[in-house]
Amino acid sequence: MDINKIRADFPILKEEVYGKPLVYFDNGATTQKPLQVIDCINHFHRHKNSSIHRGVHFLSDQATEEYEKAREAVRSFINASYAHEVIFTSGTTGSINGVAFSFGEKYVHENDEIVISEMEHHANIVPWQMLCERKNARLKIIPFDDKGLLNIEQFEKLLNEKTRIIAITHASNTLATINPVKEIIKIAHRHNIPVLVDGAQSVPHLPVDVQDMDCDFFVFSGHKIYGPTGIGVLYGKEKWLNEIPPFQGGGDMVEKVTFEKTTYNQLPYRFEAGTTNYIGAICLIKALEYVQSIGLLEIQEHEHNLLSYATKRLDDLGYITIYGRAPQKTSLISFNINDIHHYDAGMVLDKMGIAMRTGTHCAQPVMQHYGIDGNIRASFGLYNTTEEIDLLIEGIKKVKTMFG
Ligand code: PMP
Repeated sequence: MDINKIRADFPILKEEVYGKPLVYFDNGATTQKPLQVIDCINHFHRHKNSSIHRGVHFLSDQATEEYEKAREAVRSFINASYAHEVIFTSGTTGSINGVAFSFGEKYVHENDEIVISEMEHHANIVPWQMLCERKNARLKIIPFDDKGLLNIEQFEKLLNEKTRIIAITHASNTLATINPVKEIIKIAHRHNIPVLVDGAQSVPHLPVDVQDMDCDFFVFSGHKIYGPTGIGVLYGKEKWLNEIPPFQGGGDMVEKVTFEKTTYNQLPYRFEAGTTNYIGAICLIKALEYVQSIGLLEIQEHEHNLLSYATKRLDDLGYITIYGRAPQKTSLISFNINDIHHYDAGMVLDKMGIAMRTGTHCAQPVMQHYGIDGNIRASFGLYNTTEEIDLLIEGIKKVKTMFG
């Protein structure tokens, strides 16, 4: 990987904050965009903008064609069987809420159970809780150990004839654990239970093959994989998408509307009510192409090196607690500087130009597990370097001198 060439593709990395070069370590929250994505958004608005699936005019036809090409590109990226198994949504949150509502309406009833894990992002907790409240159903939780590994034995014990669906993160946004989703899905399917996999934190870091994984639903966000905000994906097996009802009504998702009755459009359109973020979808492809041009395996190796380097340097300081020590991790480290509040640390590091997330990272149950009210999260992307990690270590030493 030619890191200098890659960095040159991301204009924001040349910015300074407080007169210091920006060190961007908040990739778990959102990634920066390469010129290819920025130019795509600009070019489309300047030359091609028109609503899809609506008109017979040239621009509308052209936009529709590009949008459907984007769907095919996502299909290929995650190796879905059919392009109509790819639904464009507003993001991971939109996708999970859609499935929780729609699957829940049809299949979840009083006293039924839904299984999630202790390490989920709030986006994969709250929609299921809301469903449980609506239906008087129950949420069951797979615990993790102090290293950040799910207890698979315990997981299997949670399953029974009342379990309707399992929703699990592929990679934790706080512990970085890459979960054994294939094994989890195999166990679930032995009990005929479908599985939704939250891929928000895995898709940017490792190759994903939904057929090999055999998940029933897979969701992710464009903005975490160097693409635009407001666009995301809901992959669903054709069988499920044909069985569950649409989660929103409106234009484009219908076949025939009368005041007496409405019939719905075919897949995938029945799940894409209203004017979608078609420019987001079309320009997401530039991000996927960008990642593919570097190679997900190369990115994985680079990020793994960053993770190992940062872990060692943090451990060497002797006063850092790292949360999450799974053998398989994405390039993200949650930690605290012993006896120093994470907000104090975050504020000093910010003044040094280092952008990191402090707090609970929308995963409050993870903090509750460790009995802390938050921590600092450094999450690395394909453009980060070991020199930037050195700056973080210098920053932490400064924090320790100030507050220690
Ligand atoms: N799940 C996980 C694991 C995440 O990290 C995030 C984003 N932090 C989400 C879901 C929600 O993603 P979005 O805000 O893009 O909908």
